[in-house]
Amino acid sequence: MELKPLQLPDSLNYIGLFLTLECNLNCSYCINDPEQSGRRATLFPIQGKTTRKTLTPDQWRDALLRIPVREDLPITLQGGEPMLYWGGKGLGIVLERVPHSFDLLTNFPVTPDVFVRNLNGQQAKLQRRAPYPSIRVSYHADEMDRVWKGRGFAELVDRCEGLKDHGFRVSPDKSQSDVGIYMVEHPQNRVTAQMRAAFEGRVPFEGKEFLGVHEGKLYGHYLYPFSTDLIARGIHPQTLHCECRTTELLIDPMGFVWGCHFYLYQAWSKGGLQQEFAALEAEEFTFTQSAHRIFAGRRIAPIGHLLDPEFSMDALKRYRACDQYGRCIGCDTKIKNNRFQSYYDHGVAHTSVQIRGIQMPEHLLDRIAEPERARPFLASESILDL
Ligand code: SF4
Ligand code: SF4
Repeated sequence: MELKPLQLPDSLNYIGLFLTLECNLNCSYCINDPEQSGRRATLFPIQGKTTRKTLTPDQWRDALLRIPVREDLPITLQGGEPMLYWGGKGLGIVLERVPHSFDLLTNFPVTPDVFVRNLNGQQAKLQRRAPYPSIRVSYHADEMDRVWKGRGFAELVDRCEGLKDHGFRVSPDKSQSDVGIYMVEHPQNRVTAQMRAAFEGRVPFEGKEFLGVHEGKLYGHYLYPFSTDLIARGIHPQTLHCECRTTELLIDPMGFVWGCHFYLYQAWSKGGLQQEFAALEAEEFTFTQSAHRIFAGRRIAPIGHLLDPEFSMDALKRYRACDQYGRCIGCDTKIKNNRFQSYYDHGVAHTSVQIRGIQMPEHLLDRIAEPERARPFLASESILDL
């Protein structure tokens, strides 16, 4: 099936492709579970090769071929654990069928030999020239120590370094390395002397800000007040109404396009959209025509489907009403750079989503830490009291 190419706007900052939400680990802080309550293994059990919970490699080919190839805007494969897609062999099959460069977010669940065998000669597509590694391996202390019997970090460094034998660049300088290790700076995760001894001079290693609430404390810096902790910290009993749109193309394992990470994860934590997918597939993926029927009455619904012949990037432009404000996932509302380093270089805060018209209850207005900064995002009736 040949689909019309998408016109990617300059404002598009990220293309995230969740190949599968299955994962070999079960980290307590995993954000795939919006409640971060350690339930991800139950919510997303590993079911292996299945056409019902993922697109097939051929469907991914059709979907991805409509995304223009841009060296400065890779398609980031993530999950879950993307190496598990299609019984482990899917990554290489998809890469083989499209011309794009990819970044890969992984916990490196297989040995380098198996990984490269599964890649099926497609290594070059994961070797994008960029100031940082295109294969970004996450380190999860508790889970990796459990699986690798107490030598979690050492094993991970060995696996990354092992890629050298398969034509990948591996260097302690991250700008010269195709692979690097990243650790979520969760309060329980520490960089020990033993870890330093293991990675120094071998593989790049960096901390990654922990986003979310742990033991009642909020971690991370967010543009929109109470967006991630309103409910988690009991600040207010209900989520709020607002309007929201995204600057990222977020595609789930079945090709649905989502307006934010919370909506995507929430839909999947309730079992995914298998029935809706089957209905859509029977109608040749004409989401634009049939979504109002298939998703009638659903508050958590996708904004498009990548195999819909009528899907266009305009789907991301429109602000949509949301009544879930306050349960936003940190990666959507945290202050960060866009791909032009907007925050570091120009002081312009970028967030993955843009939110306006937040209907903030009066009793919360004087608890907003930076009211002047928040003012443009609040509904006009809220501002009167600010
Ligand atoms: S490895 Fe990543 S996706 Fe898997 S459970 Fe841990 S945090 Fe979640
Ligand atoms: S306000 Fe939060 S939950 Fe609602 S769409 Fe935006 S990011 Fe998602």
